[in-house]
Amino acid sequence: MSATAQNRHEWLILGSGIHGCHLAHRLIGAGEDPAGIALLDPHPRALWAWEKRTDAVGMRYLRSPAVHHIGSDPYELGRLRRSKSDHLGVYQRPSLALFNRHARGVVETGGIEARRITGWARRIAPERGGWSVSSSAGALRTRRLVLATGPAAPSWPEWAQAARRSGAPIHHILEPRSEVEALGDGGSIVVVGAGMSAAQTAFSLAGRDGFDVVLLGPPLSQARFDSHPMWLGPTLVASLRRTPDLSERRRMIDAGRCPGTVTDEVARAVAGACAEGRLRHVHGRAVGAEPTPGGISVETETGESIDASALLLATGFARRPPGGGLLAQAVSDLGLPVSPCGRPVVSPALEWAPGLHVTGGLAELEIGAAAPNIAGAMRCAWAIVSGAGPDQADELTPARQSSPARPAPSPEAAGGR
Ligand SMILES: Cc1cc2nc3c(=O)[nH]c(=O)nc-3n(C[C@H](O)[C@H](O)[C@H](O)COP(=O)(O)OP(=O)(O)OC[C@H]3O[C@@H](n4cnc5c(N)ncnc54)[C@H](O)[C@@H]3O)c2cc1C
Repeated sequence: MSATAQNRHEWLILGSGIHGCHLAHRLIGAGEDPAGIALLDPHPRALWAWEKRTDAVGMRYLRSPAVHHIGSDPYELGRLRRSKSDHLGVYQRPSLALFNRHARGVVETGGIEARRITGWARRIAPERGGWSVSSSAGALRTRRLVLATGPAAPSWPEWAQAARRSGAPIHHILEPRSEVEALGDGGSIVVVGAGMSAAQTAFSLAGRDGFDVVLLGPPLSQARFDSHPMWLGPTLVASLRRTPDLSERRRMIDAGRCPGTVTDEVARAVAGACAEGRLRHVHGRAVGAEPTPGGISVETETGESIDASALLLATGFARRPPGGGLLAQAVSDLGLPVSPCGRPVVSPALEWAPGLHVTGGLAELEIGAAAPNIAGAMRCAWAIVSGAGPDQADELTPARQSSPARPAPSPEAAGGR
């Protein structure tokens, strides 16, 4: 869709990732005219950032269960399974291929892809009856605006920033422009990190001809999901929302996360590759790096040096609030409220100002530790579409979700990413 085709929308969603697309799907399911919805995103197609990152790390199965997806009915993804390899384990975690096939169906047959405008939002401002957005695609106007701009930028430790400035070959696996292809046809690669992205990247590179791979990080620690499954049920979310102290809410959310952990099958895969001599796992933290004629020399906390042709960071996303410059501009120009941790202070319907909503990590002070994940996309869409808070969503059971307008709550036992 071109920006000039229609520049006054009912709903304008900034970001066409997992969160933006699921919200658009839910709005259409709730009876919104698709012609009144637009998604602004700089990438060539919907879900581009998701596809790029999951492909870069060599992910084969999602960490979350099959009932977490961007469609309507909790079981619709499971019904697309064709073979045993389409899912894994007791939570029926879908293969990435199955998840993407389903997600592409939602955005294409649901008309969401056609509602995209290619561009980058630079500033937002309230205007009579809605909001205006200045963007690289021109000025856009909307009655309701949603920030679905995804996670914060990839995290670059200070030593890695210094090494990059001095010309060392160093990339971040979650950086959209820095692909594994940048590593060329082979070489010796040090992968730095300790979580799913690091372990999966190291394992998948080690399986490619021509690569000699070292995984550098602390010993792998296992957890089934990346946040405690209790965050998918009503109890913790209700308790979060009853907590007036926003710093205490931050503490509750941080305590519910399991960063730097891997699933048992990924831990087994890494251990197997090490036992077969295809991968070396050096336990320790990187503390410095410098360019060498052959590429890079990485220094560990124990004083060991590892020489490689390139270094790949898999150190996750920065801990600062997501939303980048747009969030900063909204706070400084419009005086919108933020917590001491810099997150928007929003209503149960995730409204930050009249007609301005947030989703994803921007909504975590209301939705909790699972907010950035696929389960969080379902919760956020529920809250925005119905105007209700997440605990009302939890009162529904899958059997009562016949209306496509209603987001599916996940079985309480099912976990997040
Ligand atoms: C490797 C990996 C694996 C994961 N696996 C799982 C999993 O198994 N299960 C799970 O539940 N979660 C998982 N997650 C977490 C989460 O579900 C994903 O990060 C997901 O992509 C988040 O969706 P999003 O829409 O918030 O962000 P994104 O997918 O990043 O989409 C946001 C979009 O907004 C655009 N944007 C940003 N700023 C602007 C702007 N100013 N103007 C216009 N557009 C803008 C971005 O370019 C991007 O296209 C995983 C994350 C990663 C990185």
